[in-house]
Amino acid sequence: MKMNDVTKQHRNLIAGEWVEGADINENRNPANTDEIVGLYARASKDDAKRAIAAARAAFPAWSKSGPQQRHDLLKKVSDTIAARADELGELLAREEGKTFAEAKGEVMRASQVFGFFSGETLRQTGDAVDSVRPGVEVMVQREALGVIGLITPWNFPIAIPAWKIAPALAYGNCVVIKPADLTPGCAWALAEIIHEAGAPEGVFNLVMGRGSEVGAEILDNPEIDAVSFTGSVETGRKVAETCVAQMKKVQLEMGGKNPLVVLDDADLDVAVNCALNGAFFSTGQRCTASSRLIVTEGIHDRFVEALTEKLRALKVGDPMDGAVHIGPVVDASQLEQNKRYVKIGQDEGATLVCGGEVIEGDTPGHFMTPALFTNTTNEMRINREEIFGPVATVIKVADYDEALRVANDTDFGLSAGICTTHLGHAAHFRRHAEAGMVMVNLPTAGVDYHTPFGGRKGSSYGPREQGQYAREFYTTVKTTYIQA
Ligand code: NAD
Repeated sequence: MKMNDVTKQHRNLIAGEWVEGADINENRNPANTDEIVGLYARASKDDAKRAIAAARAAFPAWSKSGPQQRHDLLKKVSDTIAARADELGELLAREEGKTFAEAKGEVMRASQVFGFFSGETLRQTGDAVDSVRPGVEVMVQREALGVIGLITPWNFPIAIPAWKIAPALAYGNCVVIKPADLTPGCAWALAEIIHEAGAPEGVFNLVMGRGSEVGAEILDNPEIDAVSFTGSVETGRKVAETCVAQMKKVQLEMGGKNPLVVLDDADLDVAVNCALNGAFFSTGQRCTASSRLIVTEGIHDRFVEALTEKLRALKVGDPMDGAVHIGPVVDASQLEQNKRYVKIGQDEGATLVCGGEVIEGDTPGHFMTPALFTNTTNEMRINREEIFGPVATVIKVADYDEALRVANDTDFGLSAGICTTHLGHAAHFRRHAEAGMVMVNLPTAGVDYHTPFGGRKGSSYGPREQGQYAREFYTTVKTTYIQA
Protein backbone atom coordinates (compact mmCIF):
# COMPACT_ATOMS: atom_id res chain seq x y z
CA MET A 1 0.00 0.00 0.00
CA LYS A 2 1.38 3.43 -1.00
CA MET A 3 1.37 5.65 2.09
CA ASN A 4 1.23 9.40 2.16
CA ASP A 5 4.64 10.89 3.03
CA VAL A 6 3.99 13.26 5.96
CA THR A 7 7.17 15.26 5.41
CA LYS A 8 6.40 15.99 1.76
CA GLN A 9 4.70 19.28 0.96
CA HIS A 10 1.82 18.64 -1.41
CA ARG A 11 1.76 21.60 -3.77
CA ASN A 12 -0.87 23.23 -5.91
CA LEU A 13 -1.20 22.27 -9.57
CA ILE A 14 -1.10 25.40 -11.72
CA ALA A 15 -0.55 25.35 -15.50
CA GLY A 16 0.75 21.78 -15.33
CA GLU A 17 3.36 22.57 -12.64
CA TRP A 18 3.42 21.73 -8.94
CA VAL A 19 3.72 25.11 -7.24
CA GLU A 20 4.45 26.05 -3.61
CA GLY A 21 1.81 28.00 -1.73
CA ALA A 22 1.85 31.05 0.49
CA ASP A 23 1.36 28.95 3.60
CA ILE A 24 1.30 25.30 4.74
CA ASN A 25 -1.75 23.46 6.02
CA GLU A 26 -1.13 20.64 8.51
CA ASN A 27 -3.86 18.17 7.65
CA ARG A 28 -4.65 16.32 10.89
CA ASN A 29 -6.44 13.07 11.57
CA PRO A 30 -9.69 13.74 13.47
CA ALA A 31 -9.37 10.31 15.11
CA ASN A 32 -5.88 11.19 16.35
CA THR A 33 -5.11 14.88 16.36
CA ASP A 34 -1.44 14.11 17.14
CA GLU A 35 -1.16 12.57 13.69
CA ILE A 36 -0.43 14.73 10.67
CA VAL A 37 -1.93 13.15 7.57
CA GLY A 38 0.11 15.39 5.29
CA LEU A 39 1.35 18.91 4.62
CA TYR A 40 -0.58 20.79 1.97
CA ALA A 41 0.20 24.12 0.34
CA ARG A 42 -2.29 26.92 0.79
CA ALA A 43 -2.57 29.02 -2.35
CA SER A 44 -2.65 32.82 -2.33
CA LYS A 45 -5.05 34.95 -4.35
CA ASP A 46 -2.25 35.44 -6.90
CA ASP A 47 -1.82 31.67 -7.21
CA ALA A 48 -5.55 31.38 -7.87
CA LYS A 49 -5.31 34.15 -10.49
CA ARG A 50 -2.51 32.28 -12.27
CA ALA A 51 -4.47 29.03 -12.19
CA ILE A 52 -7.51 30.76 -13.69
CA ALA A 53 -5.37 32.40 -16.40
CA ALA A 54 -3.83 29.01 -17.22
CA ALA A 55 -7.27 27.44 -17.53
CA ARG A 56 -8.39 30.28 -19.80
CA ALA A 57 -5.31 29.82 -22.02
CA ALA A 58 -5.94 26.06 -22.26
CA PHE A 59 -9.64 26.37 -23.08
CA PRO A 60 -9.60 26.95 -26.88
CA ALA A 61 -7.59 23.80 -27.60
CA TRP A 62 -9.26 21.60 -24.97
CA SER A 63 -12.80 22.56 -25.90
CA LYS A 64 -12.07 21.58 -29.50
CA SER A 65 -10.04 18.49 -28.62
CA GLY A 66 -12.79 16.02 -29.52
CA PRO A 67 -14.19 13.09 -27.58
CA GLN A 68 -11.40 10.53 -27.96
CA GLN A 69 -8.79 12.48 -25.99
CA ARG A 70 -11.27 13.34 -23.26
CA HIS A 71 -12.57 9.78 -23.12
CA ASP A 72 -9.07 8.36 -22.76
CA LEU A 73 -8.13 10.82 -20.02
CA LEU A 74 -11.25 10.20 -17.94
CA LYS A 75 -11.06 6.44 -18.42
CA LYS A 76 -7.46 6.40 -17.25
CA VAL A 77 -8.39 8.49 -14.19
CA SER A 78 -11.24 6.10 -13.40
CA ASP A 79 -8.98 3.04 -13.71
CA THR A 80 -6.21 4.58 -11.60
CA ILE A 81 -8.56 5.58 -8.80
CA ALA A 82 -9.93 2.03 -8.69
CA ALA A 83 -6.44 0.53 -8.70
CA ARG A 84 -5.45 2.76 -5.76
CA ALA A 85 -8.73 2.31 -3.83
CA ASP A 86 -7.19 0.88 -0.64
CA GLU A 87 -4.57 3.59 -0.34
CA LEU A 88 -7.00 6.41 -1.19
CA GLY A 89 -9.64 4.93 1.12
CA GLU A 90 -7.15 5.00 3.97
CA LEU A 91 -6.17 8.60 3.17
CA LEU A 92 -9.85 9.59 3.12
CA ALA A 93 -10.60 7.83 6.42
CA ARG A 94 -7.58 9.47 8.03
CA GLU A 95 -8.33 13.00 6.90
CA GLU A 96 -12.13 13.03 7.13
CA GLY A 97 -12.92 10.34 9.70
CA LYS A 98 -15.49 8.10 8.02
CA THR A 99 -14.83 4.38 8.42
CA PHE A 100 -12.43 2.70 6.01
CA ALA A 101 -15.29 0.71 4.43
CA GLU A 102 -17.28 3.91 3.81
CA ALA A 103 -14.16 5.72 2.63
CA LYS A 104 -13.21 2.98 0.17
CA GLY A 105 -16.81 2.97 -1.08
CA GLU A 106 -16.54 6.70 -1.70
CA VAL A 107 -13.26 6.23 -3.58
CA MET A 108 -14.89 3.60 -5.78
CA ARG A 109 -17.75 6.02 -6.37
CA ALA A 110 -15.25 8.59 -7.64
CA SER A 111 -13.87 5.96 -10.03
CA GLN A 112 -17.38 5.10 -11.27
CA VAL A 113 -18.17 8.77 -11.85
CA PHE A 114 -15.08 9.21 -14.04
CA GLY A 115 -15.97 5.96 -15.82
CA PHE A 116 -19.51 7.18 -16.50
CA PHE A 117 -18.36 10.52 -17.89
CA SER A 118 -15.63 8.90 -20.02
CA GLY A 119 -18.53 7.15 -21.78
CA GLU A 120 -20.54 10.36 -21.99
CA THR A 121 -17.78 12.00 -24.04
CA LEU A 122 -18.76 9.57 -26.83
CA ARG A 123 -22.47 10.26 -26.50
CA GLN A 124 -22.59 13.97 -27.29
CA THR A 125 -25.60 14.33 -29.51
CA GLY A 126 -27.57 17.30 -30.75
CA ASP A 127 -30.80 17.81 -32.65
CA ALA A 128 -31.49 18.43 -36.31
CA VAL A 129 -34.77 20.34 -36.52
CA ASP A 130 -36.96 21.11 -39.53
CA SER A 131 -37.12 24.87 -39.95
CA VAL A 132 -40.40 26.72 -40.39
CA ARG A 133 -38.65 28.41 -43.32
CA PRO A 134 -38.34 26.28 -46.47
CA GLY A 135 -34.75 25.53 -47.42
CA VAL A 136 -33.36 26.29 -43.97
CA GLU A 137 -31.88 23.64 -41.70
CA VAL A 138 -31.59 24.05 -37.96
CA MET A 139 -29.08 22.34 -35.69
CA VAL A 140 -29.07 22.45 -31.92
CA GLN A 141 -25.78 21.52 -30.27
CA ARG A 142 -24.10 21.78 -26.95
CA GLU A 143 -20.72 23.42 -26.43
CA ALA A 144 -18.35 23.78 -23.52
CA LEU A 145 -18.99 26.73 -21.20
CA GLY A 146 -15.41 27.81 -20.55
CA VAL A 147 -13.46 27.97 -17.29
CA ILE A 148 -15.33 26.42 -14.38
CA GLY A 149 -14.54 27.18 -10.74
CA LEU A 150 -15.31 24.29 -8.40
CA ILE A 151 -15.62 24.82 -4.64
CA THR A 152 -16.13 21.70 -2.54
CA PRO A 153 -16.83 20.76 1.11
CA TRP A 154 -15.00 18.39 3.43
CA ASN A 155 -17.58 15.65 3.94
CA PHE A 156 -17.14 13.80 0.63
CA PRO A 157 -13.56 14.85 -0.15
CA ILE A 158 -13.11 12.66 -3.23
CA ALA A 159 -16.64 11.93 -4.52
CA ILE A 160 -17.81 15.55 -4.72
CA PRO A 161 -14.66 16.81 -6.51
CA ALA A 162 -15.03 13.81 -8.85
CA TRP A 163 -18.67 14.47 -9.71
CA LYS A 164 -17.85 18.07 -10.60
CA ILE A 165 -14.45 17.60 -12.31
CA ALA A 166 -15.48 14.63 -14.48
CA PRO A 167 -18.45 16.29 -16.27
CA ALA A 168 -16.60 19.62 -16.50
CA LEU A 169 -13.72 17.97 -18.39
CA ALA A 170 -15.94 15.56 -20.33
CA TYR A 171 -17.89 18.42 -21.91
CA GLY A 172 -14.70 20.30 -22.84
CA ASN A 173 -14.33 22.82 -20.02
CA CYS A 174 -11.19 23.76 -18.11
CA VAL A 175 -11.20 23.51 -14.33
CA VAL A 176 -9.91 25.36 -11.29
CA ILE A 177 -10.85 23.51 -8.11
CA LYS A 178 -10.59 24.65 -4.51
CA PRO A 179 -11.26 21.80 -2.09
CA ALA A 180 -12.16 22.30 1.57
CA ASP A 181 -9.25 23.44 3.70
CA LEU A 182 -10.03 20.65 6.21
CA THR A 183 -9.59 17.84 3.68
CA PRO A 184 -7.16 18.76 0.89
CA GLY A 185 -5.57 15.28 0.75
CA CYS A 186 -8.05 13.44 -1.45
CA ALA A 187 -8.36 16.36 -3.87
CA TRP A 188 -4.57 16.51 -4.11
CA ALA A 189 -4.38 12.77 -4.84
CA LEU A 190 -7.07 13.18 -7.49
CA ALA A 191 -5.11 16.08 -9.03
CA GLU A 192 -1.98 13.92 -9.14
CA ILE A 193 -3.93 11.16 -10.91
CA ILE A 194 -5.45 13.58 -13.45
CA HIS A 195 -2.05 15.18 -14.09
CA GLU A 196 -0.29 11.84 -14.51
CA ALA A 197 -3.09 10.58 -16.75
CA GLY A 198 -2.03 13.29 -19.22
CA ALA A 199 -4.34 16.29 -18.74
CA PRO A 200 -2.86 19.00 -20.96
CA GLU A 201 -1.22 21.96 -19.21
CA GLY A 202 -3.78 24.31 -17.68
CA VAL A 203 -6.83 22.13 -18.41
CA PHE A 204 -7.05 21.07 -14.77
CA ASN A 205 -5.75 23.21 -11.88
CA LEU A 206 -5.82 22.63 -8.14
CA VAL A 207 -5.61 25.55 -5.70
CA MET A 208 -5.94 24.48 -2.09
CA GLY A 209 -6.59 27.03 0.60
CA ARG A 210 -9.12 29.11 2.43
CA GLY A 211 -12.53 30.11 1.14
CA SER A 212 -11.97 33.75 2.05
CA GLU A 213 -8.81 33.87 -0.13
CA VAL A 214 -8.85 31.29 -2.89
CA GLY A 215 -12.61 30.74 -2.95
CA ALA A 216 -13.23 34.49 -3.09
CA GLU A 217 -10.83 34.86 -6.04
CA ILE A 218 -12.70 32.13 -7.94
CA LEU A 219 -15.97 33.99 -7.36
CA ASP A 220 -14.59 37.44 -8.23
CA ASN A 221 -12.34 36.65 -11.18
CA PRO A 222 -13.95 37.68 -14.49
CA GLU A 223 -12.20 34.83 -16.34
CA ILE A 224 -14.35 32.28 -14.49
CA ASP A 225 -17.48 31.52 -16.53
CA ALA A 226 -19.34 29.33 -14.07
CA VAL A 227 -19.11 28.15 -10.47
CA SER A 228 -20.29 24.83 -9.07
CA PHE A 229 -20.39 24.94 -5.28
CA THR A 230 -21.25 22.40 -2.59
CA GLY A 231 -21.27 23.46 1.04
CA SER A 232 -23.33 25.27 3.63
CA VAL A 233 -26.35 27.46 2.94
CA GLU A 234 -24.58 30.47 4.41
CA THR A 235 -21.60 30.24 2.04
CA GLY A 236 -23.84 29.20 -0.85
CA ARG A 237 -25.81 32.40 -0.52
CA LYS A 238 -22.60 34.46 -0.79
CA VAL A 239 -21.51 32.41 -3.79
CA ALA A 240 -24.84 33.01 -5.52
CA GLU A 241 -24.88 36.74 -4.80
CA THR A 242 -21.36 37.24 -6.14
CA CYS A 243 -21.87 35.08 -9.23
CA VAL A 244 -25.28 36.46 -10.18
CA ALA A 245 -24.00 40.03 -9.86
CA GLN A 246 -21.40 39.14 -12.52
CA MET A 247 -23.84 37.00 -14.53
CA LYS A 248 -21.79 33.84 -14.00
CA LYS A 249 -23.63 30.58 -14.28
CA VAL A 250 -23.93 29.06 -10.82
CA GLN A 251 -24.92 25.75 -9.31
CA LEU A 252 -25.29 25.28 -5.54
CA GLU A 253 -25.74 22.12 -3.47
CA MET A 254 -26.25 22.96 0.19
CA GLY A 255 -27.75 21.68 3.39
CA GLY A 256 -30.58 19.37 4.33
CA LYS A 257 -32.96 18.50 7.14
CA ASN A 258 -34.15 15.34 5.51
CA PRO A 259 -37.26 13.54 6.79
CA LEU A 260 -37.63 9.78 7.04
CA VAL A 261 -41.31 8.92 7.52
CA VAL A 262 -42.04 5.60 9.26
CA LEU A 263 -45.66 4.44 9.03
CA ASP A 264 -47.47 1.91 11.22
CA ASP A 265 -47.44 -0.62 8.38
CA ALA A 266 -43.66 -0.40 7.85
CA ASP A 267 -41.45 -3.44 8.17
CA LEU A 268 -39.82 -2.61 11.52
CA ASP A 269 -36.38 -4.01 10.61
CA VAL A 270 -36.34 -2.12 7.32
CA ALA A 271 -37.36 1.12 9.06
CA VAL A 272 -34.80 0.80 11.85
CA ASN A 273 -32.00 -0.03 9.42
CA CYS A 274 -32.95 2.89 7.16
CA ALA A 275 -32.88 5.24 10.16
CA LEU A 276 -29.62 3.84 11.50
CA ASN A 277 -27.85 4.06 8.17
CA GLY A 278 -29.43 7.31 6.98
CA ALA A 279 -29.06 9.26 10.20
CA PHE A 280 -25.83 8.04 11.72
CA PHE A 281 -23.47 6.42 9.22
CA SER A 282 -20.61 8.62 8.06
CA THR A 283 -21.02 10.18 11.55
CA GLY A 284 -24.23 11.87 10.35
CA GLN A 285 -22.10 14.22 8.27
CA ARG A 286 -24.07 13.86 5.05
CA CYS A 287 -26.25 16.46 3.39
CA THR A 288 -28.74 13.64 2.75
CA ALA A 289 -28.75 12.41 6.38
CA SER A 290 -32.17 11.49 7.82
CA SER A 291 -32.06 13.96 10.67
CA ARG A 292 -35.85 14.00 11.27
CA LEU A 293 -37.51 10.62 11.89
CA ILE A 294 -41.26 11.20 11.55
CA VAL A 295 -43.01 8.21 13.07
CA THR A 296 -46.73 7.39 13.33
CA GLU A 297 -47.98 6.60 16.82
CA GLY A 298 -48.83 2.91 16.27
CA ILE A 299 -45.19 1.94 15.61
CA HIS A 300 -43.50 4.78 17.53
CA ASP A 301 -42.57 2.98 20.76
CA ARG A 302 -41.40 -0.22 19.04
CA PHE A 303 -39.36 1.81 16.55
CA VAL A 304 -37.68 3.93 19.23
CA GLU A 305 -36.90 0.88 21.35
CA ALA A 306 -35.40 -1.10 18.44
CA LEU A 307 -33.41 1.88 17.13
CA THR A 308 -32.07 2.73 20.58
CA GLU A 309 -30.94 -0.84 21.09
CA LYS A 310 -29.03 -0.76 17.79
CA LEU A 311 -27.54 2.65 18.55
CA ARG A 312 -26.22 1.49 21.91
CA ALA A 313 -24.48 -1.42 20.15
CA LEU A 314 -22.63 0.84 17.71
CA LYS A 315 -18.91 1.19 18.28
CA VAL A 316 -17.48 4.68 17.95
CA GLY A 317 -13.74 4.98 17.36
CA ASP A 318 -10.83 4.80 14.95
CA PRO A 319 -12.17 4.56 11.38
CA MET A 320 -9.35 2.20 10.44
CA ASP A 321 -10.55 -0.35 13.02
CA GLY A 322 -12.80 -2.81 11.18
CA ALA A 323 -15.00 -3.26 14.27
CA VAL A 324 -15.86 0.47 14.42
CA HIS A 325 -19.19 1.65 12.97
CA ILE A 326 -18.88 5.40 13.53
CA GLY A 327 -15.71 7.43 13.16
CA PRO A 328 -14.93 10.78 14.72
CA VAL A 329 -16.58 14.11 14.04
CA VAL A 330 -14.47 15.99 11.50
CA ASP A 331 -12.98 18.67 13.77
CA ALA A 332 -13.22 20.47 17.08
CA SER A 333 -15.59 23.18 15.87
CA GLN A 334 -18.05 20.65 14.37
CA LEU A 335 -17.90 18.73 17.66
CA GLU A 336 -18.70 21.96 19.54
CA GLN A 337 -21.63 22.57 17.18
CA ASN A 338 -22.98 19.06 17.84
CA LYS A 339 -22.66 19.53 21.61
CA ARG A 340 -24.39 22.90 21.35
CA TYR A 341 -27.36 21.36 19.54
CA VAL A 342 -27.63 18.50 22.06
CA LYS A 343 -27.90 21.17 24.77
CA ILE A 344 -30.39 23.18 22.68
CA GLY A 345 -32.55 20.05 22.27
CA GLN A 346 -32.53 19.39 26.01
CA ASP A 347 -33.32 23.03 26.76
CA GLU A 348 -36.21 22.89 24.27
CA GLY A 349 -37.72 20.00 26.26
CA ALA A 350 -36.82 17.08 24.00
CA THR A 351 -35.84 13.77 25.62
CA LEU A 352 -32.31 12.57 24.91
CA VAL A 353 -32.87 8.82 24.75
CA CYS A 354 -29.26 7.90 24.17
CA GLY A 355 -25.86 9.22 23.08
CA GLY A 356 -24.72 12.77 22.61
CA GLU A 357 -21.69 12.22 24.83
CA VAL A 358 -18.17 13.19 23.95
CA ILE A 359 -16.02 10.16 24.66
CA GLU A 360 -12.32 9.43 24.91
CA GLY A 361 -10.82 7.13 22.32
CA ASP A 362 -7.48 5.31 22.47
CA THR A 363 -6.08 8.37 20.72
CA PRO A 364 -6.94 12.08 21.07
CA GLY A 365 -9.85 12.50 18.64
CA HIS A 366 -13.27 14.12 18.26
CA PHE A 367 -15.47 11.20 19.28
CA MET A 368 -19.15 11.51 20.05
CA THR A 369 -21.78 8.81 20.61
CA PRO A 370 -24.80 8.88 18.27
CA ALA A 371 -27.63 10.88 19.83
CA LEU A 372 -31.35 10.24 19.53
CA PHE A 373 -34.01 12.67 20.73
CA THR A 374 -37.71 11.82 21.22
CA ASN A 375 -40.64 14.01 22.30
CA THR A 376 -39.67 16.61 19.76
CA THR A 377 -41.86 18.91 17.72
CA ASN A 378 -41.11 20.12 14.24
CA GLU A 379 -40.95 23.70 15.53
CA MET A 380 -37.89 23.02 17.71
CA ARG A 381 -34.55 24.37 16.48
CA ILE A 382 -33.14 20.81 16.48
CA ASN A 383 -35.73 20.04 13.80
CA ARG A 384 -35.28 23.20 11.77
CA GLU A 385 -31.51 23.78 11.62
CA GLU A 386 -28.92 21.51 10.05
CA ILE A 387 -26.73 20.01 12.79
CA PHE A 388 -24.47 17.94 10.51
CA GLY A 389 -23.50 15.41 13.14
CA PRO A 390 -24.63 12.06 14.59
CA VAL A 391 -27.82 13.54 16.02
CA ALA A 392 -31.35 12.58 14.96
CA THR A 393 -34.78 13.36 16.33
CA VAL A 394 -38.07 11.48 16.44
CA ILE A 395 -41.27 13.42 15.75
CA LYS A 396 -44.41 11.46 16.70
CA VAL A 397 -47.39 12.02 14.37
CA ALA A 398 -50.96 10.69 14.20
CA ASP A 399 -51.11 9.41 10.64
CA TYR A 400 -49.74 9.58 7.11
CA ASP A 401 -51.33 12.96 6.34
CA GLU A 402 -49.67 14.60 9.31
CA ALA A 403 -46.38 12.83 8.52
CA LEU A 404 -46.37 14.27 4.99
CA ARG A 405 -47.22 17.75 6.27
CA VAL A 406 -44.37 17.65 8.80
CA ALA A 407 -41.95 16.16 6.27
CA ASN A 408 -42.55 19.09 3.92
CA ASP A 409 -42.54 21.73 6.66
CA THR A 410 -38.86 22.65 6.34
CA ASP A 411 -36.68 25.22 4.60
CA PHE A 412 -34.79 22.38 2.91
CA GLY A 413 -35.74 19.87 0.21
CA LEU A 414 -32.86 17.56 -0.66
CA SER A 415 -33.94 13.99 0.12
CA ALA A 416 -37.09 12.52 1.71
CA GLY A 417 -37.78 8.91 2.63
CA ILE A 418 -40.72 6.77 3.63
CA CYS A 419 -40.85 3.28 5.14
CA THR A 420 -44.19 1.63 4.41
CA THR A 421 -45.67 -1.53 2.90
CA HIS A 422 -48.70 0.47 1.69
CA LEU A 423 -48.35 1.03 -2.05
CA GLY A 424 -50.82 3.92 -2.01
CA HIS A 425 -48.89 5.84 0.63
CA ALA A 426 -45.59 5.16 -1.11
CA ALA A 427 -46.97 6.43 -4.42
CA HIS A 428 -48.61 9.47 -2.80
CA PHE A 429 -45.39 10.34 -0.96
CA ARG A 430 -43.36 10.05 -4.17
CA ARG A 431 -45.64 12.61 -5.80
CA HIS A 432 -46.06 14.99 -2.86
CA ALA A 433 -42.72 15.01 -1.04
CA GLU A 434 -41.11 18.41 -1.64
CA ALA A 435 -37.62 17.07 -2.23
CA GLY A 436 -35.27 16.49 -5.13
CA MET A 437 -34.82 12.82 -4.23
CA VAL A 438 -37.38 10.42 -2.73
CA MET A 439 -36.54 7.05 -1.18
CA VAL A 440 -39.08 4.31 -0.48
CA ASN A 441 -37.92 1.70 2.05
CA LEU A 442 -34.36 2.97 1.59
CA PRO A 443 -32.18 5.34 3.61
CA THR A 444 -32.40 9.02 2.60
CA ALA A 445 -28.64 8.92 1.99
CA GLY A 446 -27.08 6.74 -0.69
CA VAL A 447 -27.64 7.50 -4.37
CA ASP A 448 -26.62 6.13 -7.74
CA TYR A 449 -23.92 7.85 -9.78
CA HIS A 450 -25.73 7.92 -13.13
CA THR A 451 -28.94 9.67 -12.00
CA PRO A 452 -29.61 13.32 -11.16
CA PHE A 453 -28.64 14.55 -7.70
CA GLY A 454 -30.00 17.70 -6.10
CA GLY A 455 -32.83 19.24 -4.19
CA ARG A 456 -35.38 22.01 -3.84
CA LYS A 457 -35.96 25.03 -1.61
CA GLY A 458 -32.89 25.97 0.46
CA SER A 459 -30.98 22.81 -0.46
CA SER A 460 -30.10 23.49 -4.07
CA TYR A 461 -30.00 26.16 -6.74
CA GLY A 462 -29.44 25.67 -10.43
CA PRO A 463 -29.36 22.54 -12.57
CA ARG A 464 -28.90 19.04 -11.14
CA GLU A 465 -25.55 17.34 -10.74
CA GLN A 466 -24.54 13.84 -11.93
CA GLY A 467 -25.65 11.57 -14.72
CA GLN A 468 -26.63 13.04 -18.07
CA TYR A 469 -28.40 15.90 -16.29
CA ALA A 470 -24.95 17.31 -15.46
CA ARG A 471 -24.65 18.62 -19.00
CA GLU A 472 -27.32 21.25 -18.29
CA PHE A 473 -24.80 23.03 -16.14
CA TYR A 474 -21.53 22.21 -17.88
CA THR A 475 -22.58 23.10 -21.44
CA THR A 476 -24.23 25.92 -23.30
CA VAL A 477 -26.64 25.46 -26.21
CA LYS A 478 -25.99 26.76 -29.71
CA THR A 479 -28.70 26.87 -32.37
CA THR A 480 -27.42 27.10 -35.96
CA TYR A 481 -29.60 28.05 -38.97
CA ILE A 482 -28.26 27.02 -42.37
CA GLN A 483 -29.63 28.17 -45.72
CA ALA A 484 -28.35 25.52 -48.12
P1 NAD B 1 -18.71 25.49 3.83
O1 NAD B 1 -19.80 26.27 3.22
O2 NAD B 1 -18.10 25.98 5.09
O3 NAD B 1 -17.50 25.35 2.81
C1 NAD B 1 -17.68 24.82 1.52
C2 NAD B 1 -16.57 25.32 0.62
O4 NAD B 1 -16.73 26.74 0.44
C3 NAD B 1 -15.17 25.13 1.22
O5 NAD B 1 -14.26 24.79 0.18
C4 NAD B 1 -14.86 26.50 1.77
O6 NAD B 1 -13.47 26.77 1.89
C5 NAD B 1 -15.51 27.39 0.73
N1 NAD B 1 -15.78 28.77 1.18
C6 NAD B 1 -16.04 29.19 2.45
N2 NAD B 1 -16.23 30.53 2.47
C7 NAD B 1 -16.13 30.95 1.18
C8 NAD B 1 -16.20 32.23 0.56
N3 NAD B 1 -16.47 33.33 1.26
N4 NAD B 1 -16.03 32.30 -0.76
C9 NAD B 1 -15.79 31.19 -1.50
N5 NAD B 1 -15.66 29.96 -0.96
C10 NAD B 1 -15.83 29.83 0.37
O7 NAD B 1 -19.25 23.98 3.99
P2 NAD B 1 -18.52 22.74 4.67
O8 NAD B 1 -18.53 22.95 6.16
O9 NAD B 1 -17.21 22.44 4.00
O10 NAD B 1 -19.49 21.53 4.29
C11 NAD B 1 -20.62 21.19 5.03
C12 NAD B 1 -21.88 21.68 4.34
O11 NAD B 1 -21.93 21.17 3.02
C13 NAD B 1 -23.15 21.20 5.01
O12 NAD B 1 -24.08 22.26 5.08
C14 NAD B 1 -23.68 20.14 4.05
O13 NAD B 1 -25.06 19.94 4.10
C15 NAD B 1 -23.23 20.67 2.75
N6 NAD B 1 -23.17 19.62 1.74
C16 NAD B 1 -24.13 19.61 0.77
C17 NAD B 1 -24.14 18.61 -0.19
C18 NAD B 1 -25.18 18.59 -1.27
O14 NAD B 1 -24.91 18.01 -2.31
N7 NAD B 1 -26.33 19.19 -1.09
C19 NAD B 1 -23.16 17.61 -0.16
C20 NAD B 1 -22.21 17.65 0.86
C21 NAD B 1 -22.22 18.67 1.80
